[in-house]
Amino acid sequence: MNYKELADMIFPNAKEISYYEEKYPRRNLPEGAVVTRFAPSPTGFVHIGGLYQALVARTVAKKTGGVFFLRVEDTDQKREVENGITGIVNSLKDFDMAPDEGMISETEEIGEYGPYKQSLRKEIYQAYAKYMLEQGKAYPCFETAEEGAERIAKQEAAKVRTGYYGVWAKYRNLSLDEAAEKIKAGVPYIIRFKSPGREDRKIQHKDVIKGKVDFPENDQDIVIIKADGLPTYHFAHLVDDHLMGTTHVIRSDEWLSSVPLHLQLFQEAGFKAPKYAHIAPIMKNDEGNKRKLSKRKDPEAAVSYYEEIGVPSLSVKEYLLNIANSTFENWRRQNKDKSIDEFDFQLNKMSVSGALFDMTKLFDVSKIVISSYSADEVYNESLKWAEKHDKELVEMLSDKDYSLKVLGIERGNAKPRKDIAKWSDVKENIIYMYDDKFLNSKQEYPYQVISDKESINKILELYIEKYYDENDDKQTWFDKIKDLAGEMGYAREVKEFKANPDAYKAHVGDVSTVLRVALTGRTNTPDMYEIMQVLGKTSVENRLRKAMS
Ligand code: GLU
Repeated sequence: MNYKELADMIFPNAKEISYYEEKYPRRNLPEGAVVTRFAPSPTGFVHIGGLYQALVARTVAKKTGGVFFLRVEDTDQKREVENGITGIVNSLKDFDMAPDEGMISETEEIGEYGPYKQSLRKEIYQAYAKYMLEQGKAYPCFETAEEGAERIAKQEAAKVRTGYYGVWAKYRNLSLDEAAEKIKAGVPYIIRFKSPGREDRKIQHKDVIKGKVDFPENDQDIVIIKADGLPTYHFAHLVDDHLMGTTHVIRSDEWLSSVPLHLQLFQEAGFKAPKYAHIAPIMKNDEGNKRKLSKRKDPEAAVSYYEEIGVPSLSVKEYLLNIANSTFENWRRQNKDKSIDEFDFQLNKMSVSGALFDMTKLFDVSKIVISSYSADEVYNESLKWAEKHDKELVEMLSDKDYSLKVLGIERGNAKPRKDIAKWSDVKENIIYMYDDKFLNSKQEYPYQVISDKESINKILELYIEKYYDENDDKQTWFDKIKDLAGEMGYAREVKEFKANPDAYKAHVGDVSTVLRVALTGRTNTPDMYEIMQVLGKTSVENRLRKAMS
């Protein structure tokens, strides 16, 4: 019995790898083009850290004229979830990050290097496992569960590393005849890699993100084909990233310690290894302690959360780029109108230890993003969000012309309003502009410096009777508020007040505040002139009268 015969016995129907090598030729891409992938398990859940990895992978591929593909890693069938692929595909689509190749629905895919779902690649893995067997670089292992448990117990008692290696790798040295006999007799087995490595030797890995890292060589005879005939992650990684032409494996740094094994697998198979870029997990500051964002504890860990609260996907991407490359923020400040695709992203400038994720900062980024939207865009996006999440907002927005005016206040100018971070903020930010909400509710009036009923009523009355004219331009409008202040004995200018504070009870700004609070119930609003223009004469007068009563 030789290796070839044993391999034939194990995988009688597997094709020669030359078949696949021809079927999936090297990609014909421009010099320097990078091929990356997002390779999640189809659990349906997309963690913000997964989206972050996908964004980074896609950004570097796009930047170099390369390819970004989506591969579904479903070889661990215990973890399968119904419609798990759909969730991932839709998340990528929602974030405008649809892959160039790969799965596009539960069952469909695009691209020439598929199947892109690992469970459909069984034959391919078996062909490559056979290829390894033929060269004596893999072998069948007949260790039973009991033997395995016993081996581990002995290793623990002897305080040595657990695993299948060296003297512990009992079936590594079985003769080919003995192995063939057992197979004929129907003894169950799996296929292991025969590692040529030694633990006392070092290898050096140069990670694109982590930099130079030293490791002991791998000496573990890891499983490559499991009892169910499917590959392990390690073997699927070798076969898939080889055949799919991945140039850069961008993945979570939980895989960093597997690098010695992976490099060895590529070496033994005779394939060119990809470059590796290991991304540290996204961290959160939890009362002074830095910890990983957790799916269980942190709602913001789920990508679906952003849609639920209405953060635009562009805001999330901008923020993720912010924490991925510290130079992004500055670039954005200097290039306000450019698309994020124009940013010169640098994989090797990513944080080695783990970027800190901060919702407040994300909302700040989002406020800037939304501030550049037109009233139409804000209207359409808020309405789309509200239709799923907020019936009252839908009803408010049903008067489209009026809503566009409301949303257009302080928008489209050099210093647009920055008070909306997410669509769920919109209602609260505009509700006072709707008469049926404002006039029909019991209103609180948080007056400030001028707070006595008498002065307030006097101001409001004088304003309606003498100073308010809806046709005034902004300057005239403001001059009239000064005149009103003067008539009431307040300082017409803030400067005058500051120069002589004892001479006045208040100044023009305080009078404005009275008007603002009476009109809106708030101390803080966008430009009051614009607000009054949008409200119109009847509403302004009704509101001021309501405040007086
Ligand atoms: N399926 C693996 C995971 O979700 C993929 C890791 C990789 O990108 O290679 O962790």
